[in-house]
Amino acid sequence: MTPWSLVSYRTTSGEDRAGALAGERVVELSVAACSVLELIEGWDAVEPELKKFDPDSAPHVNDAALQLPLRYPRKVLCSGTNYYAHMREMKVSRAAAARPYFFLKPPTTALIGPGEPIVVPADPAAKVDWEAELAVVIGRRARHVSEADALDYVAGYSAINDVSLRGPHRVQHPIGEPFQWDWLASKGADRSTPLGPGIRPAFQVADPQRLDLRLWVNGNLKQQASTSDMIDDVAVLIAAASAILTLEPGDVIATGTPDGVGLPRGEFLRPGDVVEMEVADFGRLTNPVMAEVS
Ligand code: MG
Repeated sequence: MTPWSLVSYRTTSGEDRAGALAGERVVELSVAACSVLELIEGWDAVEPELKKFDPDSAPHVNDAALQLPLRYPRKVLCSGTNYYAHMREMKVSRAAAARPYFFLKPPTTALIGPGEPIVVPADPAAKVDWEAELAVVIGRRARHVSEADALDYVAGYSAINDVSLRGPHRVQHPIGEPFQWDWLASKGADRSTPLGPGIRPAFQVADPQRLDLRLWVNGNLKQQASTSDMIDDVAVLIAAASAILTLEPGDVIATGTPDGVGLPRGEFLRPGDVVEMEVADFGRLTNPVMAEVS
């Protein structure tokens, strides 16, 4: 059977639907829904149906315009510094035994879908960088789950670009030690964070620690790595996050970026650039870069 992902698309008559992306084709799902989030909120009932779904015999949807696959998750958690090679290029150290570190992104204003522009400040001092990451989409409420059980709470996987403003990250004149880093200014900008193109159901992913990630800027390969280089694997991240708060269906965990970001090379995104990324064979996520209009 052709591998497929859940997508949100808009029909030519302007209606939003959930569908499946198989290769380059969008096809109708066997379970009708207006959105992927609606499907994931009923995941216990939906998942067994989708396991029987065959995209090769499903009706083709003509002129489907892909949208942000989840509109909107309640939370987007991001893991910081979670690949060994990225840790080395950023010249930071983190003992493997240390607890995973998370920060949050504001879902409704930060997330964008396939083809939508990444909006960057006109000021080059913002130093806008790319971060290709595996996104984990939660399918069941999770609180204090064990690492052994953690993957049972995953609905699927996607690609997320944790676009980061390096310029405002370190506070110039912090009022005290707890305020040295401005994570919101660095990571929470409007229309900064592409997600998609779809969500590959977890039952099609044999091992989330054996997925290839790649990111290109203007066609030049910048990041290429395997999730096998993660410091804390997906199960550890889910268990750790669920020890802090309740993970809800549709919540996204961005699992950290591998090496190949722009900062160590002094390269940053500029208006007119085109960023593409792929996780495994989940489909390509393409986003142009556009200057913020004030
Ligand atoms: Mg990141």
